Amino acid sequence: MTTSPLLYTLMGLLFGTTLLALGMAMGFWMARRGASGELANAARATLEQQNMLALMRNMATWTNDFAGDFTRYQSKMESLSRVAADGKTASTKEGVQELLDQIVSANEALQSRLNNAEQKLENQTKQLAGYLTEARTDALTGLANRKAFDQKLDECFQKWQQSKAMFSLAMIDVDHFKKVNDTYGHPAGDAVLREMATRLSEIKHDSLLVARYGGEEFAVLINGSETEAAELMERVRKNIAGKTFEADGVSIPVTMSCGVSRILSEDRVGKLVRRADEALYSAKMGGRNRVFVHNGTLCSGLGSTSNDPTVSATPKSDPLPVSNDLEERIRSKFDHIIEKETNRLS
Ligand code: GH3
Ligand code: MG
Ligand code: MG
Repeated sequence: MTTSPLLYTLMGLLFGTTLLALGMAMGFWMARRGASGELANAARATLEQQNMLALMRNMATWTNDFAGDFTRYQSKMESLSRVAADGKTASTKEGVQELLDQIVSANEALQSRLNNAEQKLENQTKQLAGYLTEARTDALTGLANRKAFDQKLDECFQKWQQSKAMFSLAMIDVDHFKKVNDTYGHPAGDAVLREMATRLSEIKHDSLLVARYGGEEFAVLINGSETEAAELMERVRKNIAGKTFEADGVSIPVTMSCGVSRILSEDRVGKLVRRADEALYSAKMGGRNRVFVHNGTLCSGLGSTSNDPTVSATPKSDPLPVSNDLEERIRSKFDHIIEKETNRLS
């Protein structure tokens, strides 16, 4: 009942600071969002931004209201303390009682406003958390989206720099997905992507994050070396190729190609992504429905793909020399074939 003004001051400061921090967090989030330019759905993003702006406006209003309440409370207390100090009112028992009643009633009014504001703040924080989760989730598959992936990748990289916590990246691409859309229709294609997400999410082994990277591409961050990651992805690949996908009563054969690499000393995040991408490219060049690993020097394939339902199986590829340049890679692949053929004929 007679909470001290000092406590209210502290509560007011705490409340104001919380609002300020939330406001800053939202501002930061919106700035990043605006800068990223990678919005899958512009209309949805605009709506989200409008919701966030409305939320910020509400919070700013409450901050003002609360600041106003608090200022009124302070001046009320000051005037009561002046009345108490002049000694006239406080000289009688009734006067003291009246002063105390006024203090109690001012305290109660502030307490009630504070409770109200706290409740509103709690509700809006929940709403904000909902928006933030939505902003990191892919609407079609329910997986983490590209933004969430980028953040997790940065996080993993920081841990790697601090404590050498090893991690690997697997980039996955559905093979001939355009053909799936063309043959079975776009909604069936969507169903395939959802089923891909379900099967990828079933990865139990120390996977740090499964994300939809974009279109028919997925990315998985995995705790551990590229060998562990490749073995894990090989199991996933077999699972995908071994069991047809069902969409509206139609069985659709699906395969995936995958490129794996692990974080290396003196690495940068971009380099890891590029290596995994190159390994994925090698898996495509190597005949699809396979997992390739980039070990920092070479890309090499894993396992055979005799059960490939959509692509005629090709022999397991020899390691492909690594290059950042597409033309050079194709040329080196041809050089490799010519060399093999020359050896065979001679
Ligand atoms: P590759 O084996 O070389 O990867 O061939 P691909 O056909 O899978 O690759 P391509 O890049 O030619 O085609 C990808 C297709 O994925 C084209 C695009 O329309 C489709 N796609 C991208 N996002 C979605 C989506 O959300 N739903 C559906 N149904 N299709 C999508
Ligand atoms: Mg693709
Ligand atoms: Mg594809």
